Amino acid sequence: MRTKKAPSQAKRAKPRASQSKPQTNGTPRTPTLKPPKAPERSAARSPAAQPAELSESDRRRLHEYLELAERPFLVHTVPASRKRKRSGAHPMQVQEDLFEQRLSVQYEVKPRDKWESLRRYKKFTVGSESIATGECILVKHDETEDPRMDIHSQWKAKVLEVRALDQEHVYIRLSWLNRPEDLPSGRKDYHGKNELIPTNQMDIIDAMAVNGALPVRHWDEQADGDEQSMPAEDEFFWRQTFDFANTKSFSNLRRICVDDAPQNPDELIVQCSNGECRKWMHVRCIAKNALERAIASQSPNQPPDSSPKKGKLKNPANNPNLTAVADATKGLTTAEVFVKGYPDRPNIEPAEEDEIVITTETGEQYSEEVRCLFCETEVE
Ligand SMILES: [Zn+2]
Ligand SMILES: [Zn+2]
Repeated sequence: MRTKKAPSQAKRAKPRASQSKPQTNGTPRTPTLKPPKAPERSAARSPAAQPAELSESDRRRLHEYLELAERPFLVHTVPASRKRKRSGAHPMQVQEDLFEQRLSVQYEVKPRDKWESLRRYKKFTVGSESIATGECILVKHDETEDPRMDIHSQWKAKVLEVRALDQEHVYIRLSWLNRPEDLPSGRKDYHGKNELIPTNQMDIIDAMAVNGALPVRHWDEQADGDEQSMPAEDEFFWRQTFDFANTKSFSNLRRICVDDAPQNPDELIVQCSNGECRKWMHVRCIAKNALERAIASQSPNQPPDSSPKKGKLKNPANNPNLTAVADATKGLTTAEVFVKGYPDRPNIEPAEEDEIVITTETGEQYSEEVRCLFCETEVE
């Protein structure tokens, strides 16, 4: 049977050294800086240009501003649909390379003169970890927070720009990756437990709030033939973006099955083996369908054997200790779906064959083959 589900553990890449141990040991860390590569300095007049060397008095003034301001820099985004406006002599800047083209956004940092008089860097270092622009990071809610706090509740973001006056004044311009529950529409049942939704909502934070790098995988749902594209259950991933600055809309997800709904990558889906059909189905929909048919056939108004799509009945082959990959219950009737080789978790015995086990109101059990919900072909 062709199946798809997040593998329980990442088998591909070795985790980064920093991920295999606790994030940090709690010692205070001062961010350090890596100078940018030479060509950047020569890019005079382009937005990537380095600022002119500050005079001693300008430097002192900027230092004082950074020391006193609670939030020294703010980022304003402007919907791309609006005409590019000019702010003084400067055009708005455009942030591209934000996960998907649709997230490209015009923005402006305020106060712009102070931001642009800070030197740009390609990388900064937190503890022993070097983090470059383009990487994703964990962000503490405030600087006093215990850096060992739960990885799920820490904020996540992508580093877009690093600027600094000196080692004590390092700032990161970033765009946020939200958890589904942090967006107005909330968490839906198709969201994976480690799913993140990149946005073009930007901020500038003090590098002291950064709590390490976070690998985030892109899951291309269309890449059916490439099992490697699927994130493992323990990996953070994204497949959908939220355009915060322009349209306040989500990008589309792939919809499958009889309920025309997206896949939750933590739950199994199976593909019909009929070459003409090849439809993907949620295993939980197969369980729900079997339950509905079982209940219909138990109904006293129903003549025996009139229930639709009934598979061949047999005695359950699986031993009762096995774990179903999906089940559905109503009253005392239960339908459990077993798929060969699943669950794929350590210390749990996987099923040896595909079958649906029905337990009726009276406690009787029978089993059915797993059939396609579209064409009724037995799924193999
Ligand atoms: Zn479904
Ligand atoms: Zn089919």
